[in-house]
Amino acid sequence: MDPQKRAALIGRIKTSLSRQLRYYLDLCTRCGLCYDTCHVYYGIPKKEYSPVGRAEIVRRIYKKYFRPSGWLFPFWGDSKEITETTIEELSDAAFSCTGCRRCMMYCPFAIDTPVVLSIAKAMLIEYGAAPEELTILADGAVEKGESIAEFKEGYRHVIGDLEKEVATRINASSPEGLIPLEKKGAEILFVGLAGAHSIVNPAIIFNKAKVQWTLSWFEAVNFGAFLGDPIKTQRIAQRIINEAIELGVKEVVIVECGTAYRIPKYLLGPLPFKVSSIIEVIHRYIQNGNIKIKEKAIQEAVTYHDPCQLGRNGGIYEQPREILQLLCTDYREMSPNRAYNWCCGGGGGLVALDNEQFRIQSGKAKRDQITATGARIVVSACENCIFQLETIKTGYGLDIEVKSLTELVAEHLV
Ligand code: SF4
Ligand code: SF4
Repeated sequence: MDPQKRAALIGRIKTSLSRQLRYYLDLCTRCGLCYDTCHVYYGIPKKEYSPVGRAEIVRRIYKKYFRPSGWLFPFWGDSKEITETTIEELSDAAFSCTGCRRCMMYCPFAIDTPVVLSIAKAMLIEYGAAPEELTILADGAVEKGESIAEFKEGYRHVIGDLEKEVATRINASSPEGLIPLEKKGAEILFVGLAGAHSIVNPAIIFNKAKVQWTLSWFEAVNFGAFLGDPIKTQRIAQRIINEAIELGVKEVVIVECGTAYRIPKYLLGPLPFKVSSIIEVIHRYIQNGNIKIKEKAIQEAVTYHDPCQLGRNGGIYEQPREILQLLCTDYREMSPNRAYNWCCGGGGGLVALDNEQFRIQSGKAKRDQITATGARIVVSACENCIFQLETIKTGYGLDIEVKSLTELVAEHLV
């Protein structure tokens, strides 16, 4: 490798080395307790897909350039020079990890493997080897934030068509429009995704609940976070923060997307508005009587997949279960569930990459969990999970129906 490039990579590591990261890098005892906790390792049992195996590549590079043993005894086995091969290993380790943090639950030191792999991602960006798909999507989102005025007219037309669908489904109209845009003083700013269903179903619920809401110009998903680029992550998130402040809303409600919820909720510091997931809001509306659902309307066996970013990393476990228990006569838990639930294999931006066969293999743990429940309907509350559950369904030929929780509620409103 060109020495200048290597020097730039070492510089990038140096700027990324927080106290937390040094702690994680120094503390791992290689006890192996995390070894088989990763769904990727479950489906593809190679040591490089174990959490400790992935982190070990970063740890060895760190030893080589940042620990005295690496400088003094460079030929000893556990330090690693940065080469083209190392870059490939880093890429495989970082972009096969969904950031689910299941491994952290089993580590006696709570070592956060995705945080360790953030160094790998920073190095890949520096080297120009980050996945092109994620880079294009992140850049597109940043660009949209800078030139939103050019997008507005086209978007209004799209929303006009979606309003017709909402009007037909709830048999109602509104002088303000059933999907209001740029409504100053609204109580809620709802942030959806690119797919029509991610806007239509919440719109039905907000209209039925008769709340003052408005739709964001932007998509909730943050490809900067998947890429591992903190600057792009902040810029993508800032578009929505600015919009919420400008409109003066009290609450920003995030569509079914775990990462999109977790970033403003937990990672951006205090914000002048409340951040909620659409699942929390639906639960609240049911509890307060703002909406009514057809109780016990679904008689087939139903199970729920906890999205990692909403459950383990976001703390939302009970609300979806309470909604499903109201809706269904035969609700069945996967085992394990809640904080120990297996990741589906679609998070971390992996569903945006060209890796379907890999995702089918790494979805084996989820396949086994689903089949063990005997459920016919598998519900989740994250767009990435839904997409991956569909891949698992097709890949293993499962006789199941995959449903989003918001969609299920919108279909069963009184
Ligand atoms: S965060 Fe999830 S995908 Fe990544 S190593 Fe840990 S268990 Fe595996
Ligand atoms: S459980 Fe923790 S300390 Fe043990 S090998 Fe895994 S990361 Fe290292």
